[in-house]
Amino acid sequence: MRVHLQALGCRLNEAELQTWARQLQQQGHLVTADQSAADLVVINTCAVTAEAVRKSRKLLRRARRSNPRAKLVVSGCFASLEGDTLAREQGIDLLVHNGDKERLVEIAAHELDLESMPVSAIASDTNPLFARGRQRAFVKVQDGCRYRCTFCIVTLARGAERSRPIPEVVDEINRLCADGVKEIVLTGVHLGGYGSDSKSDLPALIRAILTGTDVGRVRMGSLEPWDLPEDFWVLFEDHRLMPHLHLPLQSGSDTVLRRMARRCRTEHFARLVTEARQQVADFNVTTDIIVGFPGESPVEWEETLAFVESVGFGHVHVFPYSPRRGTKAADLPDQIPNETKRDRSRRMQELGQRMKRETLAGYIDRCLPVLVEGRYGGAPEGGWFGYTPNYLPVRVAVDKKNDPGNRILEVKLEAVHQDGKSLVGSL
Ligand code: SF4
Repeated sequence: MRVHLQALGCRLNEAELQTWARQLQQQGHLVTADQSAADLVVINTCAVTAEAVRKSRKLLRRARRSNPRAKLVVSGCFASLEGDTLAREQGIDLLVHNGDKERLVEIAAHELDLESMPVSAIASDTNPLFARGRQRAFVKVQDGCRYRCTFCIVTLARGAERSRPIPEVVDEINRLCADGVKEIVLTGVHLGGYGSDSKSDLPALIRAILTGTDVGRVRMGSLEPWDLPEDFWVLFEDHRLMPHLHLPLQSGSDTVLRRMARRCRTEHFARLVTEARQQVADFNVTTDIIVGFPGESPVEWEETLAFVESVGFGHVHVFPYSPRRGTKAADLPDQIPNETKRDRSRRMQELGQRMKRETLAGYIDRCLPVLVEGRYGGAPEGGWFGYTPNYLPVRVAVDKKNDPGNRILEVKLEAVHQDGKSLVGSL
Protein backbone atom coordinates (compact mmCIF):
# COMPACT_ATOMS: atom_id res chain seq x y z
CA MET A 1 0.00 0.00 0.00
CA ARG A 2 1.01 3.63 -0.44
CA VAL A 3 0.81 5.37 2.91
CA HIS A 4 0.67 9.10 3.60
CA LEU A 5 1.35 10.30 7.15
CA GLN A 6 0.83 13.75 8.68
CA ALA A 7 1.24 15.17 12.17
CA LEU A 8 0.19 18.41 13.79
CA GLY A 9 1.50 19.87 17.03
CA CYS A 10 4.45 18.78 19.13
CA ARG A 11 7.67 16.94 18.38
CA LEU A 12 6.24 13.90 20.15
CA ASN A 13 3.54 13.64 17.50
CA GLU A 14 6.25 13.86 14.85
CA ALA A 15 8.35 11.20 16.59
CA GLU A 16 5.35 8.84 16.68
CA LEU A 17 4.76 9.46 13.00
CA GLN A 18 8.37 8.56 12.19
CA THR A 19 7.99 5.29 14.11
CA TRP A 20 4.74 4.38 12.32
CA ALA A 21 6.31 5.23 8.95
CA ARG A 22 9.26 2.91 9.64
CA GLN A 23 6.98 0.10 10.90
CA LEU A 24 4.73 0.37 7.82
CA GLN A 25 7.78 0.38 5.56
CA GLN A 26 9.06 -2.78 7.29
CA GLN A 27 5.73 -4.39 6.40
CA GLY A 28 6.48 -3.60 2.76
CA HIS A 29 4.28 -0.49 2.43
CA LEU A 30 5.50 2.62 0.61
CA VAL A 31 5.59 6.01 2.36
CA THR A 32 4.41 8.77 0.00
CA ALA A 33 4.34 12.53 0.40
CA ASP A 34 1.38 12.65 -2.00
CA GLN A 35 -1.88 12.36 0.00
CA SER A 36 -4.09 12.05 -3.10
CA ALA A 37 -2.16 8.97 -4.29
CA ALA A 38 -2.31 7.15 -0.94
CA ASP A 39 -4.32 4.02 -0.12
CA LEU A 40 -3.95 4.70 3.59
CA VAL A 41 -3.78 8.12 5.31
CA VAL A 42 -2.60 8.39 8.93
CA ILE A 43 -3.10 11.68 10.84
CA ASN A 44 -1.75 12.47 14.32
CA THR A 45 -3.87 15.32 15.71
CA CYS A 46 -3.29 18.04 18.36
CA ALA A 47 -5.53 19.74 20.91
CA VAL A 48 -3.12 22.00 22.82
CA THR A 49 -5.02 25.18 21.79
CA ALA A 50 -8.37 26.01 20.16
CA GLU A 51 -6.37 26.89 17.04
CA ALA A 52 -4.78 23.42 17.01
CA VAL A 53 -8.23 21.85 17.21
CA ARG A 54 -9.40 24.00 14.29
CA LYS A 55 -6.37 22.89 12.25
CA SER A 56 -6.92 19.24 13.16
CA ARG A 57 -10.53 19.38 11.97
CA LYS A 58 -9.43 21.10 8.75
CA LEU A 59 -6.77 18.44 8.11
CA LEU A 60 -9.32 15.62 8.51
CA ARG A 61 -11.83 17.31 6.21
CA ARG A 62 -9.14 17.90 3.59
CA ALA A 63 -7.96 14.28 3.83
CA ARG A 64 -11.50 13.00 3.32
CA ARG A 65 -12.19 15.42 0.47
CA SER A 66 -8.89 15.03 -1.46
CA ASN A 67 -8.89 11.24 -1.30
CA PRO A 68 -12.31 9.72 -0.43
CA ARG A 69 -11.25 6.18 -1.36
CA ALA A 70 -8.28 6.01 1.03
CA LYS A 71 -8.58 4.40 4.48
CA LEU A 72 -8.33 7.19 7.12
CA VAL A 73 -6.65 6.38 10.46
CA VAL A 74 -6.63 9.13 13.11
CA SER A 75 -4.88 9.41 16.46
CA GLY A 76 -3.49 12.10 18.75
CA CYS A 77 -4.79 14.35 21.52
CA PHE A 78 -7.74 15.84 19.60
CA ALA A 79 -8.93 12.40 18.50
CA SER A 80 -8.45 10.99 22.02
CA LEU A 81 -10.46 13.82 23.61
CA GLU A 82 -13.23 13.98 20.98
CA GLY A 83 -13.33 10.18 20.38
CA ASP A 84 -16.40 8.64 18.76
CA THR A 85 -18.18 11.92 17.95
CA LEU A 86 -15.26 12.79 15.74
CA ALA A 87 -15.16 9.34 14.14
CA ARG A 88 -18.82 9.65 13.13
CA GLU A 89 -18.51 13.28 12.04
CA GLN A 90 -15.44 12.94 9.84
CA GLY A 91 -15.96 9.52 8.30
CA ILE A 92 -12.86 8.11 9.97
CA ASP A 93 -12.18 4.41 9.30
CA LEU A 94 -10.15 3.88 12.47
CA LEU A 95 -9.59 6.06 15.56
CA VAL A 96 -6.67 5.03 17.80
CA HIS A 97 -6.59 6.62 21.27
CA ASN A 98 -3.31 7.95 22.67
CA GLY A 99 -3.12 5.02 25.08
CA ASP A 100 -2.90 2.57 22.13
CA LYS A 101 -0.59 4.63 19.94
CA GLU A 102 2.38 2.26 20.33
CA ARG A 103 0.29 -0.42 18.58
CA LEU A 104 -1.32 1.80 15.89
CA VAL A 105 0.23 -0.08 12.94
CA GLU A 106 -0.68 -3.47 14.43
CA ILE A 107 -4.27 -2.33 15.18
CA ALA A 108 -4.66 -0.84 11.69
CA ALA A 109 -3.36 -4.02 10.04
CA HIS A 110 -5.90 -6.06 12.02
CA GLU A 111 -8.93 -3.74 11.91
CA LEU A 112 -8.48 -2.62 8.29
CA ASP A 113 -7.16 -5.96 7.05
CA LEU A 114 -4.00 -4.35 5.64
CA GLU A 115 -2.04 -6.79 3.45
CA SER A 116 1.68 -6.96 4.36
CA MET A 117 4.35 -8.05 1.87
CA PRO A 118 7.42 -10.12 2.78
CA VAL A 119 10.04 -7.54 3.80
CA SER A 120 12.60 -8.79 1.35
CA ALA A 121 10.23 -8.25 -1.58
CA ILE A 122 9.99 -4.44 -1.64
CA ALA A 123 11.69 -2.98 1.41
CA SER A 124 12.97 0.54 0.68
CA ASP A 125 16.46 1.34 1.97
CA THR A 126 15.62 5.02 2.40
CA ASN A 127 14.70 6.00 5.93
CA PRO A 128 11.15 7.46 5.69
CA LEU A 129 12.48 10.49 7.54
CA PHE A 130 14.50 11.51 4.47
CA ALA A 131 11.58 10.53 2.20
CA ARG A 132 9.67 13.16 4.09
CA GLY A 133 12.43 15.75 3.61
CA ARG A 134 13.68 15.73 7.21
CA GLN A 135 17.20 15.42 8.61
CA ARG A 136 16.73 15.48 12.37
CA ALA A 137 15.02 12.49 13.96
CA PHE A 138 12.66 12.99 16.87
CA VAL A 139 12.91 10.03 19.23
CA LYS A 140 10.04 9.41 21.65
CA VAL A 141 11.43 8.32 25.03
CA GLN A 142 8.54 9.15 27.35
CA ASP A 143 4.78 9.76 27.38
CA GLY A 144 2.25 11.19 29.84
CA CYS A 145 2.64 13.56 32.81
CA ARG A 146 1.90 13.38 36.56
CA TYR A 147 1.40 17.14 36.91
CA ARG A 148 -1.78 19.14 36.44
CA CYS A 149 -0.89 22.62 35.23
CA THR A 150 -4.27 24.30 35.20
CA PHE A 151 -4.12 25.39 31.52
CA CYS A 152 -2.86 22.07 30.16
CA ILE A 153 -5.04 19.68 28.15
CA VAL A 154 -2.10 17.46 27.18
CA THR A 155 -1.81 15.88 30.60
CA LEU A 156 -5.50 14.89 30.31
CA ALA A 157 -5.15 13.57 26.75
CA ARG A 158 -1.90 11.64 27.26
CA GLY A 159 -2.42 10.02 30.68
CA ALA A 160 0.09 8.77 33.24
CA GLU A 161 3.90 8.86 32.81
CA ARG A 162 5.48 5.88 31.04
CA SER A 163 9.06 5.55 29.83
CA ARG A 164 10.54 3.50 26.98
CA PRO A 165 13.27 1.11 28.19
CA ILE A 166 16.79 2.49 27.66
CA PRO A 167 17.99 -0.45 25.46
CA GLU A 168 15.01 0.08 23.12
CA VAL A 169 15.84 3.78 22.74
CA VAL A 170 19.55 3.05 22.17
CA ASP A 171 18.67 0.45 19.50
CA GLU A 172 16.40 2.89 17.68
CA ILE A 173 19.12 5.56 17.68
CA ASN A 174 21.70 3.10 16.33
CA ARG A 175 19.27 2.18 13.54
CA LEU A 176 18.81 5.88 12.73
CA CYS A 177 22.59 6.37 12.69
CA ALA A 178 22.92 3.42 10.27
CA ASP A 179 20.39 5.24 8.05
CA GLY A 180 22.59 8.35 8.03
CA VAL A 181 20.80 10.45 10.66
CA LYS A 182 23.24 12.91 12.28
CA GLU A 183 21.04 14.47 14.98
CA ILE A 184 18.37 13.05 17.25
CA VAL A 185 15.96 15.03 19.45
CA LEU A 186 14.70 13.31 22.63
CA THR A 187 10.99 13.98 23.04
CA GLY A 188 8.32 13.33 25.65
CA VAL A 189 5.33 14.98 27.27
CA HIS A 190 7.29 15.47 30.50
CA LEU A 191 10.84 14.64 29.46
CA GLY A 192 12.15 15.44 32.94
CA GLY A 193 9.89 12.69 34.26
CA TYR A 194 11.75 10.05 32.25
CA GLY A 195 12.29 6.93 34.37
CA SER A 196 9.80 7.94 37.10
CA ASP A 197 8.01 4.64 36.39
CA SER A 198 11.14 2.52 35.88
CA LYS A 199 13.59 3.50 38.66
CA SER A 200 15.72 5.39 36.15
CA ASP A 201 16.05 9.04 35.13
CA LEU A 202 16.88 11.36 32.25
CA PRO A 203 20.65 11.61 33.01
CA ALA A 204 20.92 7.79 32.95
CA LEU A 205 19.19 7.71 29.57
CA ILE A 206 21.46 10.43 28.14
CA ARG A 207 24.61 8.72 29.42
CA ALA A 208 23.47 5.42 27.85
CA ILE A 209 22.89 7.16 24.50
CA LEU A 210 26.27 8.94 24.60
CA THR A 211 28.14 5.69 25.43
CA GLY A 212 25.98 3.24 23.42
CA THR A 213 25.65 5.10 20.09
CA ASP A 214 27.78 7.09 17.62
CA VAL A 215 25.12 9.70 16.93
CA GLY A 216 26.83 13.04 16.26
CA ARG A 217 24.30 15.28 18.01
CA VAL A 218 21.91 14.62 20.87
CA ARG A 219 19.36 17.37 21.48
CA MET A 220 16.68 17.53 24.16
CA GLY A 221 13.12 18.49 23.33
CA SER A 222 11.04 20.73 25.60
CA LEU A 223 11.95 20.21 29.27
CA GLU A 224 9.97 21.49 32.26
CA PRO A 225 12.26 23.66 34.45
CA TRP A 226 12.06 21.35 37.46
CA ASP A 227 12.90 17.75 38.38
CA LEU A 228 16.49 18.37 37.07
CA PRO A 229 19.17 16.77 39.32
CA GLU A 230 22.00 18.84 40.85
CA ASP A 231 24.72 17.43 38.56
CA PHE A 232 22.63 17.77 35.39
CA TRP A 233 25.06 20.24 33.73
CA VAL A 234 27.98 17.77 33.96
CA LEU A 235 26.34 15.82 31.12
CA PHE A 236 27.12 18.71 28.73
CA GLU A 237 30.87 18.06 29.10
CA ASP A 238 30.24 15.60 26.26
CA HIS A 239 29.98 17.95 23.27
CA ARG A 240 27.65 15.58 21.47
CA LEU A 241 24.97 16.81 23.90
CA MET A 242 23.77 20.09 22.40
CA PRO A 243 24.12 23.21 24.67
CA HIS A 244 20.51 24.34 24.24
CA LEU A 245 17.40 23.81 26.32
CA HIS A 246 13.80 24.80 25.70
CA LEU A 247 12.52 25.52 29.22
CA PRO A 248 8.82 26.61 29.20
CA LEU A 249 8.51 29.43 31.76
CA GLN A 250 4.89 30.26 30.83
CA SER A 251 4.78 33.40 33.05
CA GLY A 252 7.25 35.75 34.77
CA SER A 253 4.84 36.50 37.61
CA ASP A 254 4.90 34.20 40.67
CA THR A 255 1.22 34.86 41.44
CA VAL A 256 0.26 33.83 37.90
CA LEU A 257 2.57 30.77 38.14
CA ARG A 258 0.71 29.82 41.32
CA ARG A 259 -2.67 30.01 39.52
CA MET A 260 -1.16 27.89 36.73
CA ALA A 261 -0.07 25.29 39.35
CA ARG A 262 3.45 25.43 37.90
CA ARG A 263 6.18 23.73 39.96
CA CYS A 264 8.71 26.50 39.30
CA ARG A 265 8.90 30.14 40.55
CA THR A 266 10.88 32.94 38.89
CA GLU A 267 13.73 32.85 41.44
CA HIS A 268 14.29 29.12 40.83
CA PHE A 269 14.09 29.60 37.05
CA ALA A 270 16.63 32.45 37.12
CA ARG A 271 19.01 30.36 39.24
CA LEU A 272 18.70 27.39 36.87
CA VAL A 273 19.59 29.52 33.82
CA THR A 274 22.48 31.22 35.65
CA GLU A 275 23.94 27.83 36.63
CA ALA A 276 23.61 26.57 33.04
CA ARG A 277 25.32 29.66 31.60
CA GLN A 278 28.16 29.32 34.14
CA GLN A 279 28.74 25.61 33.47
CA VAL A 280 27.87 25.11 29.77
CA ALA A 281 29.72 27.10 27.08
CA ASP A 282 27.49 28.91 24.55
CA PHE A 283 24.39 27.71 26.46
CA ASN A 284 21.22 28.96 24.72
CA VAL A 285 17.83 28.94 26.45
CA THR A 286 14.51 29.33 24.65
CA THR A 287 11.01 29.35 26.17
CA ASP A 288 7.20 29.43 25.95
CA ILE A 289 5.12 32.27 27.42
CA ILE A 290 1.35 32.25 27.83
CA VAL A 291 -0.06 35.79 27.70
CA GLY A 292 -3.51 36.71 29.01
CA PHE A 293 -3.88 33.90 31.55
CA PRO A 294 -7.12 34.34 33.55
CA GLY A 295 -6.82 37.15 36.05
CA GLU A 296 -3.45 38.39 34.66
CA SER A 297 -3.47 41.94 36.00
CA PRO A 298 -1.52 44.82 34.37
CA VAL A 299 0.96 44.55 37.29
CA GLU A 300 1.44 40.80 36.79
CA TRP A 301 1.84 41.41 33.07
CA GLU A 302 4.57 44.01 33.58
CA GLU A 303 6.27 41.58 36.00
CA THR A 304 6.31 38.97 33.20
CA LEU A 305 7.76 41.40 30.65
CA ALA A 306 10.45 42.54 33.09
CA PHE A 307 11.40 39.01 34.13
CA VAL A 308 11.60 37.71 30.55
CA GLU A 309 13.84 40.67 29.66
CA SER A 310 16.05 40.00 32.72
CA VAL A 311 16.67 36.38 31.66
CA GLY A 312 17.36 37.16 27.96
CA PHE A 313 16.08 34.27 25.79
CA GLY A 314 17.39 33.11 22.41
CA HIS A 315 13.79 32.63 21.27
CA VAL A 316 10.34 33.10 22.82
CA HIS A 317 7.25 31.20 21.63
CA VAL A 318 4.23 33.35 22.55
CA PHE A 319 0.83 31.74 23.15
CA PRO A 320 -2.33 33.82 23.82
CA TYR A 321 -4.12 31.89 26.57
CA SER A 322 -6.60 29.42 24.99
CA PRO A 323 -9.24 28.01 27.38
CA ARG A 324 -9.41 24.23 27.00
CA ARG A 325 -12.62 22.47 28.11
CA GLY A 326 -11.81 20.06 30.97
CA THR A 327 -8.93 22.14 32.40
CA LYS A 328 -9.22 24.05 35.70
CA ALA A 329 -8.12 27.37 34.19
CA ALA A 330 -11.00 27.33 31.68
CA ASP A 331 -13.38 27.84 34.60
CA LEU A 332 -11.33 30.49 36.40
CA PRO A 333 -12.91 33.98 36.80
CA ASP A 334 -11.50 37.14 35.11
CA GLN A 335 -10.90 35.65 31.64
CA ILE A 336 -8.86 38.24 29.69
CA PRO A 337 -10.46 39.94 26.62
CA ASN A 338 -9.00 38.87 23.23
CA GLU A 339 -7.98 42.43 22.45
CA THR A 340 -5.82 42.58 25.57
CA LYS A 341 -4.33 39.17 24.69
CA ARG A 342 -3.48 40.44 21.19
CA ASP A 343 -1.82 43.55 22.59
CA ARG A 344 0.21 41.55 25.13
CA SER A 345 1.18 38.99 22.42
CA ARG A 346 2.48 41.80 20.21
CA ARG A 347 4.55 43.32 23.03
CA MET A 348 6.00 39.92 24.06
CA GLN A 349 6.85 39.09 20.42
CA GLU A 350 8.59 42.45 20.01
CA LEU A 351 10.65 41.78 23.15
CA GLY A 352 11.36 38.24 21.93
CA GLN A 353 12.56 39.47 18.53
CA ARG A 354 14.87 42.05 20.11
CA MET A 355 16.39 39.46 22.46
CA LYS A 356 16.81 37.03 19.55
CA ARG A 357 18.61 39.64 17.46
CA GLU A 358 20.92 40.40 20.42
CA THR A 359 21.61 36.68 20.97
CA LEU A 360 22.42 36.11 17.28
CA ALA A 361 24.61 39.24 17.08
CA GLY A 362 26.76 37.83 19.89
CA TYR A 363 27.98 35.09 17.50
CA ILE A 364 29.13 37.22 14.55
CA ASP A 365 32.71 36.32 13.48
CA ARG A 366 32.51 32.95 15.27
CA CYS A 367 32.96 29.66 13.37
CA LEU A 368 30.48 26.95 14.44
CA PRO A 369 29.48 23.53 13.02
CA VAL A 370 26.06 23.65 11.35
CA LEU A 371 23.94 20.59 10.44
CA VAL A 372 22.65 21.68 7.03
CA GLU A 373 19.06 20.49 6.85
CA GLY A 374 17.73 21.78 3.59
CA ARG A 375 16.76 24.75 1.48
CA TYR A 376 15.61 27.84 3.40
CA GLY A 377 11.82 27.88 3.24
CA GLY A 378 12.07 24.79 1.04
CA ALA A 379 12.64 27.10 -1.97
CA PRO A 380 15.57 26.33 -4.40
CA GLU A 381 16.59 30.02 -4.47
CA GLY A 382 16.44 30.23 -0.65
CA GLY A 383 20.02 29.07 -0.03
CA TRP A 384 20.73 26.37 2.54
CA PHE A 385 19.65 26.32 6.17
CA GLY A 386 20.60 24.62 9.44
CA TYR A 387 21.27 25.00 13.15
CA THR A 388 24.38 25.43 15.28
CA PRO A 389 24.84 23.10 18.29
CA ASN A 390 23.18 25.69 20.55
CA TYR A 391 20.19 25.89 18.17
CA LEU A 392 20.91 29.18 16.42
CA PRO A 393 19.30 29.24 12.96
CA VAL A 394 21.81 29.90 10.14
CA ARG A 395 21.43 30.60 6.43
CA VAL A 396 24.49 29.17 4.67
CA ALA A 397 25.76 30.46 1.34
CA VAL A 398 26.97 27.47 -0.70
CA ASP A 399 28.03 27.46 -4.35
CA LYS A 400 25.46 25.85 -6.62
CA LYS A 401 27.40 22.69 -7.53
CA ASN A 402 27.55 21.58 -3.89
CA ASP A 403 24.72 19.73 -2.06
CA PRO A 404 25.48 20.12 1.66
CA GLY A 405 22.18 18.54 2.75
CA ASN A 406 22.45 16.40 5.92
CA ARG A 407 26.12 17.34 6.45
CA ILE A 408 27.70 19.02 9.49
CA LEU A 409 29.85 21.85 8.08
CA GLU A 410 32.05 24.48 9.72
CA VAL A 411 30.39 27.85 9.02
CA LYS A 412 31.82 31.36 9.50
CA LEU A 413 28.99 33.44 10.98
CA GLU A 414 29.11 36.83 9.28
CA ALA A 415 25.94 38.80 10.08
CA VAL A 416 22.40 38.74 11.43
CA HIS A 417 19.95 38.43 8.54
CA GLN A 418 17.90 41.63 7.96
CA ASP A 419 14.75 39.81 9.11
CA GLY A 420 16.43 39.22 12.48
CA LYS A 421 15.39 35.54 12.43
CA SER A 422 18.73 33.91 11.60
CA LEU A 423 22.45 34.36 11.15
CA VAL A 424 24.06 34.42 7.71
CA GLY A 425 27.30 32.55 7.14
CA SER A 426 29.57 30.92 4.63
CA LEU A 427 31.59 27.72 4.55
S1 SF4 B 1 4.12 19.69 33.22
FE1 SF4 B 1 3.78 20.12 31.06
S2 SF4 B 1 2.62 18.37 30.22
FE2 SF4 B 1 2.54 18.30 32.48
S3 SF4 B 1 0.64 19.32 33.02
FE3 SF4 B 1 2.27 20.88 33.08
S4 SF4 B 1 2.30 21.78 31.03
FE4 SF4 B 1 1.13 19.88 30.89
